Amino acid sequence: MDRVVIVGASMGGLRAAEQLRAAGYEGELIAIGDEPHMPYNRPPLSKEVLAAEVTHAAVAFRLRDSVADVTWRLGTPVAAADLDAGELTLADGSTLACDGLVVATGLRPRRLPLPGGEDRRHVVRTLDDAARLRPCLTPGARVVVVGAGFVGCEVAATARTLGAEVTVVAPETEPMLRPLGPELGAALRARHEARGVTFHLGATVRAFTDTGVTLSSGADLAADVVVEAVGSTPRTEWLEGNGLDLSDGVLCDGTLRVEGRPNVVAVGDVARFPNPRYDDVPRRVEHWSIPTDTAKRAARTLLGEDGGPFLPLPSFWSDQYDLRLQSFGAPALGEDVRVLEGDLETEAVVGHHRDGRLVGVVMLGMARRMAHYRGRLLDDVPALT
Ligand SMILES: Cc1cc2nc3c(=O)[nH]c(=O)nc-3n(C[C@H](O)[C@H](O)[C@H](O)COP(=O)(O)OP(=O)(O)OC[C@H]3O[C@@H](n4cnc5c(N)ncnc54)[C@H](O)[C@@H]3O)c2cc1C
Repeated sequence: MDRVVIVGASMGGLRAAEQLRAAGYEGELIAIGDEPHMPYNRPPLSKEVLAAEVTHAAVAFRLRDSVADVTWRLGTPVAAADLDAGELTLADGSTLACDGLVVATGLRPRRLPLPGGEDRRHVVRTLDDAARLRPCLTPGARVVVVGAGFVGCEVAATARTLGAEVTVVAPETEPMLRPLGPELGAALRARHEARGVTFHLGATVRAFTDTGVTLSSGADLAADVVVEAVGSTPRTEWLEGNGLDLSDGVLCDGTLRVEGRPNVVAVGDVARFPNPRYDDVPRRVEHWSIPTDTAKRAARTLLGEDGGPFLPLPSFWSDQYDLRLQSFGAPALGEDVRVLEGDLETEAVVGHHRDGRLVGVVMLGMARRMAHYRGRLLDDVPALT
């Protein structure tokens, strides 16, 4: 291969470039990014950076010497790909040939399919989103956060810390219900409520009004700012027309190769791949650990190396107020959720089990027990492999 093009110039794209060089690839590397910025780290956008000043310098990834010769084409998305011909078309009409392709286009935030309130509505996915939201989070501002996943809960905590009046609206019965389970979700809600956040759970937004939002219950909430944190969808439209399975991200095999395409791999949030640590069902994983894990493996796949089974241990963390939630494994796959250590009022480890096997843990505090549980989940590789 003489030229590998990476589409998506964020964490997954950067890690893919580093890993291709680490694996010995010496040909040309071009990374194309829709955003105008060099790769930066997203987690601080809903946490400390949103609470302070939002600048690229505060979140930019360090560029290692190994990727100093990568060509970065930023500010223009790839609009289409012809994989048979090995040709990409950018939104400005220019074309680019490639021998190898890394798909690293991540996600875009879902929006509520409702008209109105445009000047008050925000999402938090990019640096520019956070920079637009930050000046609105003033003391006393009425902020409605729609969605109680990790981004919604983190934005709620940050906005409250900045002195805003915060209300969270979500259809679930507890915040972060899927990864945390009902008990830990309730404990998290209690911590938010103790700091003055109001929850409307089992509720959705029915309409945007001149003064705020109307809920499915008919209740009207006044809002100066509405943050839509209702999940994300994979950015794969540019790959359409190539016969790929794009039903939820890009379907890959267990080595990150895009099905049926020997010279195309996918990394990060957009990649849907099986993890034999759990089963043979391909899934996307929207955690910060995954761009690095997948890039390591995908680079070797693209270069024709056999790396054995790919069994990443997903992990995520979430910071809300002074609270650190840390997860290892795949808690959302567990059906039987139990406190393993500690208590939910202070610090605890919650275990998620499937068929009697521990498949994930979520830790509320308990940093001193992290290595223990991580090791336990890493060692427990089922016979499937
Ligand atoms: C606000 C926020 C907070 C988070 N906090 C945490 C956390 O605390 N813990 C945790 O584990 N994870 C967290 N995450 C998740 C983590 O940041 C992601 O898993 C990670 O950023 C995924 O990286 P990626 O490179 O796969 O995708 P992305 O970071 O989404 O990058 C994809 C890039 O591709 C570009 N692109 C898309 N389409 C095209 C195209 N057609 N042409 C060219 N470029 C294109 C996009 O503009 C983007 O720059 C958070 C995410 C967000 C948004």
